[in-house]
Amino acid sequence: MGIPVNIAVGSYIWIGDPELSWIDGMVVNINGEEAEIQTSNGKMVVTNLSDIYPKDAEAPAVGVDDMTKLSYLHEPAVLHNLATRYEICEIYTYSGNILIALNPFQQLSNLYGAPMMERYNGAPFGDQSPHIFAIADVAYRAMINERKSNSILVSGESGAGKTETTKMLMRYLAFLGGHTVAEGQTVEQKVLESNPVLEAFGNAKTVRNNNSSRFGKFVEIQFNNSGRISGAAIRTYLLERSRVCQISDPERNYHCFYLLCAAPSEEIERFKLGNPKSFHYLNQSSCYQLVGVNDAHDYLATRRAMDIVGISEKEQDAIFRVVAAILHLGNIDFAKGEETDASVIKDEESKFHLQMTAELLMCDSHTLEDALCKRVMVTPEDIIKRSLDPLGATVSRDGLARTVYSRLFDWLVDRINISIGQDPHSKCLIGVLDIYGFESFKTNSFEQFCINFTNEKLQQHFNQHVFKMEQEEYTKDDIDWSYIEFVDNQDVLDLIEKKPGGIIALLDEACMFPKSTHETFSQKLYQTFKDNKRFIKPKLARSEFTIVHYAGEVKYQSEQFLDKNKDYVVPEHQDLLSASKCSFVSGLFPPISEENAKSSKFSSIGSRFKLQLQQLMETLNSTEPHYVRCVKPNNMLKPSIFENDNVLQQLRSGGVLEAIRIKCAGYPTHRTFFAFLERFGMLAPEILAGNYEEKVACKWILEKMGLTGYQIGNTKVFLRAGQMAELDARRSRL
Ligand code: ATP
Ligand code: MG
Repeated sequence: MGIPVNIAVGSYIWIGDPELSWIDGMVVNINGEEAEIQTSNGKMVVTNLSDIYPKDAEAPAVGVDDMTKLSYLHEPAVLHNLATRYEICEIYTYSGNILIALNPFQQLSNLYGAPMMERYNGAPFGDQSPHIFAIADVAYRAMINERKSNSILVSGESGAGKTETTKMLMRYLAFLGGHTVAEGQTVEQKVLESNPVLEAFGNAKTVRNNNSSRFGKFVEIQFNNSGRISGAAIRTYLLERSRVCQISDPERNYHCFYLLCAAPSEEIERFKLGNPKSFHYLNQSSCYQLVGVNDAHDYLATRRAMDIVGISEKEQDAIFRVVAAILHLGNIDFAKGEETDASVIKDEESKFHLQMTAELLMCDSHTLEDALCKRVMVTPEDIIKRSLDPLGATVSRDGLARTVYSRLFDWLVDRINISIGQDPHSKCLIGVLDIYGFESFKTNSFEQFCINFTNEKLQQHFNQHVFKMEQEEYTKDDIDWSYIEFVDNQDVLDLIEKKPGGIIALLDEACMFPKSTHETFSQKLYQTFKDNKRFIKPKLARSEFTIVHYAGEVKYQSEQFLDKNKDYVVPEHQDLLSASKCSFVSGLFPPISEENAKSSKFSSIGSRFKLQLQQLMETLNSTEPHYVRCVKPNNMLKPSIFENDNVLQQLRSGGVLEAIRIKCAGYPTHRTFFAFLERFGMLAPEILAGNYEEKVACKWILEKMGLTGYQIGNTKVFLRAGQMAELDARRSRL
């Protein structure tokens, strides 16, 4: 992002710093190519001139609300601007058409109240300070005025504030397009109350966020011709199933389990629950309680929200019965049976939990026991029952728990959608996407692979929108614009999703072939992609592989890829639950018809997800997108701490830095001649009075102001970075 400047003794500058990323200082001496710098934290540093960035000594002390207004646009200036604003609790900053939202980790008073909504309602974009309401307002007005669907894409890493932001967006849209109805629940109330319900079942405490969404979500809010909310649809993506059976300290399982354990005593008695510490699925971690969260209160709140979204009392009862059953199921342990490799229910306590599970799921306890401990094998000669050893039975138990839970979650989403209702006549919608950001951990498994695949897709969409649209506009207006290359990520997408031959296709192949292991799968990847620039086989690796993502390299451990990709319900489990006497439970496991069973091809989580993403992209492509990048200023989840390194990494992953670079290299501001004259005509009243052609008038004003480097196209004026601000300043001085 370097901008060539003349650096002299006395210049204020930025230089790289191992701890702070960037530190400011003043040049005290220059010796050939080297400069001696006195840094603001009192050090003397000698550095090469080419590593120095100028600092705008006149930059406003409170920062600027749009990065494109920075006089010197480079990485240290961008970072400094965010830090300055964060210090005074200005958490929102525009970067052109992207909204950067820093997580304040504290409730900022009056930031989201009704007076604030009034203030943004219909206000021209940019008139008010940057705000999430401003983005929602733009989307809404664009939809009303241009009759085109809009979408708001909220991204960022875990804990950055996506879900909170999404909720604010939805509240504001409900405020704009809501109804005042005397009785019954309005569509928007149902949409808003779907949040606590989905959070209870799909959110959990993780090390990164006490209320982490473990699924992706796209909410499509439909509007009628008069701009009122008339329907909505919620689509969810990839709920993290493994959490149901496996958690590590200090994380928690899904909130609903703890809520239920804190339910009124009547429920506790009926479901034979008690302290969460007594359940294996919860006591693998010693975290039970969350600071500032009252599970007993939240249990009742969740039930109230369920009432509003239209889940009946009876259904709610069945839902929590299933949740309780999963807890009991997890407490069934197995011991070695008499026959070799066989297992039996371990002890009286496990038998009690088996009994309870069967009772709550309303199925036969012997069939449940068999479904856990035995498998039916069909051989050409015979049908035989094979026993599972205790380990196999435990795997079977956990598989059942995961399947039941994920079916329950899907049921909730379906039910909420039915209850809210779709408007078949709606022509315009506003989509709001709250989906996991790019992830790169110490160990990265199939989940990270899918998440990063999503982010590659969204990055491409972002690239296409921001960059291609920008360039197309220059071309359309006959602007002399030497193309700036941006790193296209189509090659990563090909590596992952190409059919045949991409990683997902090879994984499916491996899953279908009974003898494959994660090692044979990895070998196949190494062979196939040995010349692929986006794929690296780490030295000495036997099953790891690295993908060079747009946001950096990620090393994946393939050990569980095959298992996690298989979307397979054990037939014994299916038969057990579809025979449940509880219609809710059997409804979660509709019988598989003969025809389906025969024709059903191998279905995998990866391929299904790929398809879902494809549909999402199709929807997004038919909308006018708006981007919100949430940023987590620190990992302590505490207010007022701004970690430079951390923030920079997120700006990079979110494509913010790249977008700024591209934008600045070109003409970040474009205005139609009419709009330009309307705004700046007052700078040259004599030209306005002259009745010239609009284009000519614009040109003369710009010349009169002594600006250079701008371009005048067929329909618009294209300004270099900062020129708009300069003209505005002149105008305000009149
Ligand atoms: P994940 O990917 O894990 O779901 P997320 O990006 O959805 O993370 P949120 O759950 O929205 O993150 O935010 C994490 C926490 O940060 C919230 O529980 C809240 O405490 C705080 N927070 C986020 N945004 C705001 C805000 N605008 N005002 C106050 N607090 C906020
Ligand atoms: Mg979230």
